[in-house]
Amino acid sequence: MSMFDTRTISRGISRMFSSPQLWLTVFVAIAIFVSFVYVANRFSGIAEDAQDRLVNVRVGSLQDAFAPLSALYVSEPDVLSAYMQDMANANPTIVEFLAVQRLNDAWIITSALDQRQRNTNLVGYDFVLSLALADTSQSFTVEEVIGNERYFRTARAIVTRDGETLGVLLTRQTLSEADRQIAANIAWSFLILFGILLLLLILFFHHARIVDYTELYRRLKEVDQLKDDFVGMVSHELRSPLTIIRGYVAELKDGGVGSQQASNLLQKIDEAANAQNLLIADILDVAKIEQGKLEYEIRDFDPEAVIRSVASGLTPAATAKGLRVSVDVTSGISIRADENRLRQVVTNFVSNAIKYSDTGQISISGISDGSRFILRVSDTGIGLSAEEVKKLFGKFYRVAGDRVRSEVGTGLGLWITKQIVEAMGGTVSVESIQGVGSHFIVALPLSAKKAP
Ligand code: ADP
Repeated sequence: MSMFDTRTISRGISRMFSSPQLWLTVFVAIAIFVSFVYVANRFSGIAEDAQDRLVNVRVGSLQDAFAPLSALYVSEPDVLSAYMQDMANANPTIVEFLAVQRLNDAWIITSALDQRQRNTNLVGYDFVLSLALADTSQSFTVEEVIGNERYFRTARAIVTRDGETLGVLLTRQTLSEADRQIAANIAWSFLILFGILLLLLILFFHHARIVDYTELYRRLKEVDQLKDDFVGMVSHELRSPLTIIRGYVAELKDGGVGSQQASNLLQKIDEAANAQNLLIADILDVAKIEQGKLEYEIRDFDPEAVIRSVASGLTPAATAKGLRVSVDVTSGISIRADENRLRQVVTNFVSNAIKYSDTGQISISGISDGSRFILRVSDTGIGLSAEEVKKLFGKFYRVAGDRVRSEVGTGLGLWITKQIVEAMGGTVSVESIQGVGSHFIVALPLSAKKAP
């Protein structure tokens, strides 16, 4: 079976959703994912800050180092411009490098990387310039965004040894390289995130598959146990009527038995043979159903006669246990089914009702609900718990406990009944309260032409 067998996975997923363990798995998966997103986000934030600070410090110290030189050469703009070019060559992020001096009320560019800027008025540095003039001992940087690019504008006053301000050094640095690197890092972390997501999904599907196998294994073990019980039970059930029969036959062979006693013994032999016959019939039915070889003779008929005949056939057994039997079937209903199979179904329900009731009444009713024929067999017997009801129609299933064990049974009757009813287009259901009684309900299709 392939790792991605979709049926196994989807069965597993639906099982997982009904198990509390799943919620833990889902919670852990979401927690891992969310924490990764959070950490990745924080990291890229921290990295961006660190990068900015680094550029900031670098440009600051660059200017701090350059400022004394500028003080010496501020009056020789060609020399200063050449030094600026050297500096810019070594630091490719510098896009603008200027020295400005005050003339009348304007700030004039005296030295620059771009010679065309020289002797023009300074624009765009007002704020950072005023900071540098307010405190001439250090450099100041402000961030600026032009289009999609970020820049740092930095300013530092050019001061003589005596503290006289000669001018101001200004730089504009692009942060696009740093930003590109950070963007690349973020892209990488998203790729990793996607990978993690993929891994989680694989893990999830794998888990679903295992949950499905675990459930299958559990069920197989259950069925295996039921089969063991069944084999044990069948060999016992097959042997005990034989032992009884052989005992009676031996008695008869010994002779000296009166004709009345002989007829009693023959009657008991007949009953024992019958019991064995029923058991074998059940086993054969199971085999046929499983191989799809059980045949049905579907035709239209009135179910009343079948139900009444089964009821009257089983009434003596009920009366012997002190149970009353009542039958209430609407006359003139026509259903579409197999008559003999319906007999088998009704017999199973009524004989179960008798087997699993000690007092009270067994009521059999049959009505039409307009589209279906509803047969209901109700008893005031031992009843079933909700857990037992769930497993009731399973193969070999018998309720645990001495009360059920004391009755002859294979645990196949209800399974066979359900298969037969469903094959005839009907449904079986049960309503039961433990210790109070059970209602077994069969719904079968009405004949098309006679449906009222
Ligand atoms: P069995 O041969 O054991 O009667 P069935 O398949 O007919 O097998 O029934 C399965 C089990 O369901 C029974 O063993 C019994 O525990 C339970 N059961 C069936 N019918 C009734 C009922 N009317 N009341 C209570 N329990 C029932």
